[in-house]
Amino acid sequence: MTSSNLRARADIATPNRTKDIIRKHGFTFKKSLGQNFLVDKNILDKIVAAAELNPAKGALEIGPGIGALTERLADEAGRVAAVEIDTRLIPILRDVMEGRDNVAIVHGDVLKTDLPALWEEQFAACEQVSVVANLPYYVTTPIIMKLLEEGLPLESIVVMVQKEVAERMAAAPGGKDYGTLSIAVQYYCEPRLVCIVPSGSFIPAPNVDSAVIKLKRRPEPAVIVRDEAAFFKVVHAAFAQRRKTLQNNLSLLAGKDRKQELGALLEGCGIKPERRGETLTLQEYAVLTDALLEAGVV
Ligand code: SAM
Repeated sequence: MTSSNLRARADIATPNRTKDIIRKHGFTFKKSLGQNFLVDKNILDKIVAAAELNPAKGALEIGPGIGALTERLADEAGRVAAVEIDTRLIPILRDVMEGRDNVAIVHGDVLKTDLPALWEEQFAACEQVSVVANLPYYVTTPIIMKLLEEGLPLESIVVMVQKEVAERMAAAPGGKDYGTLSIAVQYYCEPRLVCIVPSGSFIPAPNVDSAVIKLKRRPEPAVIVRDEAAFFKVVHAAFAQRRKTLQNNLSLLAGKDRKQELGALLEGCGIKPERRGETLTLQEYAVLTDALLEAGVV
């Protein structure tokens, strides 16, 4: 099949074609699986452009649905693996992807999938691999954390998420959106908001706006830390209760009897003890973690 043929077939992302496929297979949406299918070609163009794919690269899609994004990825990338949890969608995907020999449909829950093994199996010949997906919103954060923490050789993650979650990932210190998710994402990646997506771009329409965000994996983490686990432990403790001061939140780690000592330790790091977790930069968290390690608190 020539690439122009493939391109001519890339037509699932329209309301009529989506409705046709759904009708043909008697498919009914499951809200519990976050099933909102994209029917807006302009948004698909933006997702695919942001992923910067080419035939030497691979794409991992999470939740292909009926394949609207999958077929576009198959046009651009050398290899596509699409992991779908819903058994009912597997025959539909096999049907709509027929003739595309660079697509593997994998049935499973991405949170339980052995991703390093899948990498070996599907992407061994690819120069680089990106995750490109319209994520199921009920599990966005666990999926992103799994992708970041498993140390996969990823080039980038380009995903549709709830607008509010995209804003949290990209947030700078000092605002209400900045939190543990912002720090985890920014530690591993450089986030860039690609576009805001209105709910009318999906069937059925979700009751929130969405956004496409690109997380470009950094070659090295944003800050140098001696102990990554300790760094994230400190970050989580600092946000345990958002309204509390750092000194109070960190006392939960150190023990209440060390509150005074903690105050001095924070001052020693150049951090006022009455500041709140949401005001610290990643660099300040790195310095603070080292001091807390030194003091035997973490
Ligand atoms: N990619 C399609 C599109 O853009 O039209 C569908 C996106 S829809 C928002 C999310 C998809 O993720 C659904 O097909 C759903 O069945 C699937 N899904 C939900 N939870 C999943 C999980 N844990 N692992 C893999 N797929 C999942």
